[in-house]
Amino acid sequence: MAAVKACNILITGANRGLGLEMVRQLVEVPCSNRQIFACCRDPDSPKSNDLRELAKKHPGVIKNIQLDVTDEKSVKEAAKNVGPLLGKAGLNLLVNNAGMAILGDSQTSTTEDMLTTFNTNAIGSFIVTKEFMPYLRTAAKASGTPGMSCNKAAIINVSTIVASMACVHEIYTMIQAFPYNVSKAALNMMTVLTAIDCKPEEILVMALHPGWVKTDMGGDQAQIDVQESVGGMLRVMSGLTEKQHGAYMDYTGKTLPW
Ligand code: NDP
Repeated sequence: MAAVKACNILITGANRGLGLEMVRQLVEVPCSNRQIFACCRDPDSPKSNDLRELAKKHPGVIKNIQLDVTDEKSVKEAAKNVGPLLGKAGLNLLVNNAGMAILGDSQTSTTEDMLTTFNTNAIGSFIVTKEFMPYLRTAAKASGTPGMSCNKAAIINVSTIVASMACVHEIYTMIQAFPYNVSKAALNMMTVLTAIDCKPEEILVMALHPGWVKTDMGGDQAQIDVQESVGGMLRVMSGLTEKQHGAYMDYTGKTLPW
């Protein structure tokens, strides 16, 4: 089976849910010199116990990094700490996974709900992408091979099908997550624009929907478990080339309409 062979990988929101499972699956892939920078906002808190345990089992591979995507200082500090560990290889793969959802419709949602979700899901990914871009550039240059891939230099924005203007109607009648949907639609636009900016440097950028997944966010009634979702996302990521640059896909590899 194809696997993501990227050497240096950074994942935000890696202490639980999809982010943690991604670290779990990636650490099982045999890959020399791999470093996984598993970022979370509270590395020492009980909610990061599982990640700390996993990191203990894989010393030297999993590096637990403090990073709150809404706190620019924390992101800059993380970039400063991670930089020297990346060295000349740079950062091959950035997964903007951290996210949060607030329910409500256009009438019940508050300004604060809108700002909080926007700050995390849209601005958060913007700050992380901006601060780690120099390392992605280093990786793209260091690779010495033409084309695009997750093994060379890539940004994966974990999006959602409810950010799709074409797909959201039916889902919104069942689950009203107005602030969340709007913030993720902004993330989708950021994906498209960042892809345009990054094309000349051959840094792949795309948006990936993980499915409706049983996590704290997805709830128990969700359709699939984290293993299936992350297994699917990694399979999709392993096959990405310049043909999917700027794409919007789901964990099965299906292209989604914007
Ligand atoms: P969870 O709620 O299980 O986990 C969310 C993760 O994001 C946690 O690690 C959380 O950290 C982290 N996070 C939240 N805010 C911040 C912040 N300010 N800084 C750093 N980390 C933060 O969600 P999922 O694992 O289900 O979701 C992961 C991604 O997948 C999200 O972007 C979500 O929108 C997307 N998604 C999920 C779907 C699902 O069905 N589950 C469907 C479609 C998309 P902490 O523990 O500190 O709160």
